[in-house]
Amino acid sequence: MPEFVDRSPPGECIFCRIMRNELPAAHVHEDELTLAFMDIGQVTPGHVLVATKRHAATLLDLTQAEAAAVMQTAQRMASAQQTAFSPDGITLLQANGAAGGQTVAHFHVHVVARHTGDGVSFAWPRKEPGAEVIAGYAARLREALG
Ligand code: 5GP
Ligand code: ZN
Repeated sequence: MPEFVDRSPPGECIFCRIMRNELPAAHVHEDELTLAFMDIGQVTPGHVLVATKRHAATLLDLTQAEAAAVMQTAQRMASAQQTAFSPDGITLLQANGAAGGQTVAHFHVHVVARHTGDGVSFAWPRKEPGAEVIAGYAARLREALG
């Protein structure tokens, strides 16, 4: 399981410091609610992170306006990747919590240009529990929605 690499208090995390230009990063786009900058790891060329300007640890901590703004910026980054790097596909990845694969506890979406045979893979263990069980899961979610 991944571990958080940055356990700094809110406002002092790596990405908050990038927002304030206290740490260097290659910026790509900025608006009122989001900043898009290059991931230092570059899983493939052009790998961009879209982060909220405000420190919010996970998806569950975003306002609706931030959630909408992040996806709009991610779409713009995907479009720019398509033009600049001509990928065969594009993957968005967004991790929440250490168990969810998140290593920096400041909300961000990865926008990754994908090329056939690029070696990026995800374990995706299908269970196929059957229609009755799936319907039960859906009912739990509808109830949670209220
Ligand atoms: P996560 O694992 O939380 O989904 O993604 C965190 C990402 O942040 C990783 O892909 C990692 O390469 C990137 N990262 C960590 N530290 C820095 C940094 O100081 N600068 C930049 N630009 N990216 C970073
Ligand atoms: Zn932060």
